[in-house]
Amino acid sequence: MKIRNVRSHILQYRLEEELGYSQQYYAQRTAHIIEVITDEGIHGYGEAFGGGTVAFANKAIVENVIAPVICGMDPFDREVIWHRVYNLLRDHGQKGMPLQALSGVDIALWDITGKAFNLPLYKLLGGPFRDRIPVYGYGMMFRRVADLKTLFAEESQALVAKGFKAVKMKIGIGPKEDLDLVEAVRKAVGPEIRLMVDANHCYTAREAIPLGRELERLRVFWFEEPVAPEDRQGYRDLCLALDMNIAGGEAEFTRWGFRDLIEGRCVDILQPETCGLGGITEYQKVLALAHSHFIPVVNHVWGSAVAVATNLHLLAAMPDLPGGLHPVQPMLEYDTTPNLFREELLVTSLGILEQVSRNGGWVALPGGPGLGIEIDFDFVKRFSVV
Ligand code: CA
Repeated sequence: MKIRNVRSHILQYRLEEELGYSQQYYAQRTAHIIEVITDEGIHGYGEAFGGGTVAFANKAIVENVIAPVICGMDPFDREVIWHRVYNLLRDHGQKGMPLQALSGVDIALWDITGKAFNLPLYKLLGGPFRDRIPVYGYGMMFRRVADLKTLFAEESQALVAKGFKAVKMKIGIGPKEDLDLVEAVRKAVGPEIRLMVDANHCYTAREAIPLGRELERLRVFWFEEPVAPEDRQGYRDLCLALDMNIAGGEAEFTRWGFRDLIEGRCVDILQPETCGLGGITEYQKVLALAHSHFIPVVNHVWGSAVAVATNLHLLAAMPDLPGGLHPVQPMLEYDTTPNLFREELLVTSLGILEQVSRNGGWVALPGGPGLGIEIDFDFVKRFSVV
């Protein structure tokens, strides 16, 4: 089999309401779907992390830089393809957009392989360690309203009512304001719900350590991206100063980037973003590196149903750490803010919210070969911007 063509589809629409995190507000929803076409009629799909204008830069890399290199190659030769592309791009960017672009292509190659051998991705990866996966609800993003506390309290309560046993909220508007928000959410969800906070790297370690002590008092399970991803020492200082879990990794790339984060024991929980760090081929190496240092992995998941499906397979195939009769299960991150590309992109929806509500916060593994999804191309046409 040979790769005949690589296409990139950027989908966008305007959100009814702006959503914010500590770095910006955004009003546009983007999905960047990569399609790899073979000479035997099999099409594979992947997703490249990077919304807004970044998707257009990634599209150019996919179509003008990566496609000419890999067209004519065998799509099963995923390692060879990965290294050929990475070695050519190394001089022009070892992190960021070149890796995001390569990630989408690599995921599509795995989808092709699964379809060709009629096996779901989790089987190609070595088989399922579990037949269901717990889901945590990510929501509570900033809105331009006067009373964010009430909004967050109501939203978190609604997530719990939908069946989520774990939820994640944004922080990062200032230590005092953050604590007020977290206090309101903790009160709203009660003591039993697992609560995580995400600062999107807006603090220095000196600011984040005292904030973390207060978050511990509120029984926050993890403090995500407290400091800038470049600040390895800051991450390490936080791990040493606090009892709570320090989480991060979504802004890191390749085994070499993760090596330093992992060997430096900079996080208690690693959050690799497969659609950004280099795809599934590279994720496997990062996972092995993390587990070889006994650092638990909870994948970062963001984007369309393609990213969610990919991660369901990865979580299914993740070995227990360290193993036992009652191992801690890796959670699926599920964004609950409005996103048509997550809910309506597929012919048959993944039905995550319905399952969470029916099964008390758990979802089943996807069926079907490859990623086990079928993209609705009428939908793609409707939202395609290029
Ligand atoms: Ca995050």
